[in-house]
Amino acid sequence: NHFVREDRVHLPTSDTTIAAISTPPGAGGIGIIRISGRQSLSILQKLFKPKDSGCSFASHRLYYGHIHRPEDGKILDEVLAVYMAAPHTYTREDVVEIHCHGSFLVLDTVLELLLANGATLAGPGEFTKRAFLNGRLDLTQAEAVIDILAAKTRKGIDLAQEQLSGGLYRQIDPIRQSLVRMRALVEVAIDFPDEDVEIVDRQLLTEQLLMECGGPLKRLVSNADRGRVYREGVAIVIAGLPNVGKSSLLNAILQEDRALVTAIPGTTRDSIEEIIDIFGIPVRIIDTAGIRDNACEVEVLGIQRARDLINKADLVVLLLDGSRPVSAGDIQLYEQIRHKPVLPVLNKIDICGKNIPDLSSLSGIGHCVPISAKKQSGIEELKKALFAAITSGSEQWEEGGCAPNFRHKQALLAALDSYERILVSLQVGLTNDLIAIDLQE
Ligand code: GDP
Repeated sequence: NHFVREDRVHLPTSDTTIAAISTPPGAGGIGIIRISGRQSLSILQKLFKPKDSGCSFASHRLYYGHIHRPEDGKILDEVLAVYMAAPHTYTREDVVEIHCHGSFLVLDTVLELLLANGATLAGPGEFTKRAFLNGRLDLTQAEAVIDILAAKTRKGIDLAQEQLSGGLYRQIDPIRQSLVRMRALVEVAIDFPDEDVEIVDRQLLTEQLLMECGGPLKRLVSNADRGRVYREGVAIVIAGLPNVGKSSLLNAILQEDRALVTAIPGTTRDSIEEIIDIFGIPVRIIDTAGIRDNACEVEVLGIQRARDLINKADLVVLLLDGSRPVSAGDIQLYEQIRHKPVLPVLNKIDICGKNIPDLSSLSGIGHCVPISAKKQSGIEELKKALFAAITSGSEQWEEGGCAPNFRHKQALLAALDSYERILVSLQVGLTNDLIAIDLQE
């Protein structure tokens, strides 16, 4: 991190030394146990027998040896151990990592030994929490670590990495600097009310607020929507009458035969769900059972579920069969889903020839994407149309930059609120005291 942070929290460092298994559960070649805190090195020295017995544990060096039980000398595992001296570590405390064999039993045994010898079991996220409390990361970066671990697409990782390297901070900081400067000026005017010259030029202050705060804050708020989409993804439901090709479409998108494809109408009774990557957006794509009102008993459950799914979806793909005219059923279905954002897709164009069905009975349906699920044609165009529908065609989605999360968005909105108040105060000529309070907020 190459930039100065004056807003980082500096709290007294914790006295406890924490330890946890840092690699995921399950068997693997190696498993790593991480220790952080003042006693890290002394615990390591007590339990680790280096091959080279005179070793001095230089910082950031890997040592080969064994973990043994001090009471009886029993060897628990053959390991590599590294001691990293504060402050050049993830938590800014002394950190030790022990690379054991990746068996849960081995890791658990070694961890227990550490706990019996002075370490405390780390809580969830505690290493990152310490990194934050010790000023190694700001809160947006700590959040980015969580985002990296949870990212579902490459793009999600890129956005989180950008935030980890201070991308969001770099956008927020100039706004903050500018507000601090304005507030200083206003407070000077409060402290020296008898000066002849007007210290605060209200016109200039208004312009600066618009340029340096309002604009950037609003841009960040609108970025929060894309943050949500890249972080959490969106849910798309494929809706259509039985036999229009919903399962075939899902398969075409997934390019593998997950869903059951059949020529008998309405046999895909439950919904099938997969996560796909649409230009970096994790999309849960859900194929529903055909929605029909005159359904037979066994389908009712599936149909109710389909309706629930549609109501929860961010976007509904309305699949129509291009090989036949629009039916009363299609119209009825469309009426049921048109309160949601709908992307109409015309399937089976491989067999409809030039007889493209007349869609005018579906009022306000918009542009239909032609595809053939069976022949796998038009799928790339469909993905582009899905991306455009999710992002509302907004260009800023293409750019790099940051993606504020829900917490950031709430903070940004609160800041915008104060900002609007200051503008009004300036306009109606309220006193500097009140303006200073809003600037502070
Ligand atoms: P669902 O009931 O909506 O899930 O429809 P299915 O995916 O089970 O497809 C119903 C029938 O339509 C199957 O026989 C598919 O092979 C056929 N089908 C699906 N898509 C196409 C297409 O693009 N072209 C043609 N010719 N047939 C298709």
